[in-house]
Amino acid sequence: MIGEEKAGRILSPTTGFIAEAGFTHSLTPARNCTFGCTYCYVPTMRLFGGLKPEDWRRWGQFTTFKSNAADLLRRELRVGQRIYCSPLVDPYQPAESGMRMMEAILDAVIENPPRRFVLQTRGPLILRDLDRLRKIPRLRVSFSITTNREDVRRLYEPLCAPIGERLSAMRALREAGIEVYAALSPLLPCDPEELAQMAIEATGRELIGDPLHVRGVKPRGATTREAAWRISARHGFTEWLDGDFQQRVVDRIQVAARRWGTDFETGPGGFGRLAA
Ligand code: SF4
Repeated sequence: MIGEEKAGRILSPTTGFIAEAGFTHSLTPARNCTFGCTYCYVPTMRLFGGLKPEDWRRWGQFTTFKSNAADLLRRELRVGQRIYCSPLVDPYQPAESGMRMMEAILDAVIENPPRRFVLQTRGPLILRDLDRLRKIPRLRVSFSITTNREDVRRLYEPLCAPIGERLSAMRALREAGIEVYAALSPLLPCDPEELAQMAIEATGRELIGDPLHVRGVKPRGATTREAAWRISARHGFTEWLDGDFQQRVVDRIQVAARRWGTDFETGPGGFGRLAA
């Protein structure tokens, strides 16, 4: 189900992780995300994520676009802003293919480009807008790839594109001259070395990412949805939610990335590479 409603504003001053990474504003074109990933941290933010109760109760089952997003953006854009789109929804979620909201948003960005504009997505639908993306100076795309295992991808994010399609999308963006980063985020059960290699081959640059959010490492704020915990327990993957195990996976990816002549960084430091 796809809804629309007018918003009061479209750019929000950043706080927390995104602010620490160096972004001044976030741009969220819709509420609720039809990718519906089982681990998504956004519904755990509830009101702090700008959500309504039906959003966190039925996460992924519908979305509400901000119908006046492009008009608001024309009024709110300033040249010094560093904008992250989006911490609360994937701008290329499945519902975007019919709504085509991003085309108008990108047109507004082309008219008045900010200091940095970053699109965070896992949707190959972004390639629809390649001609527009080429016109945006200081654009970066952060493309999520969470595992090298298709069976794991189907368990945790069944509505997202298969791994091969995501790698192809990253390569196409790179070939179009767009700065594209592979975001290993969140790190799902995988072969860490193989995941690092396929991501570096696709983008040709350093890796960023994060393990699944867990209370043992992150006592407050957004965290992993219950659905991903249930899947992990059912399939013997609970160690991927253990802080010490996660650190060992991160270490292995760092070693692998260095072998490939680059590196891997997590947390605000990693995502800060997008804002710089
Ligand atoms: S694509 Fe991002 S915002 Fe959408 S459900 Fe998945 S993790 Fe959440």
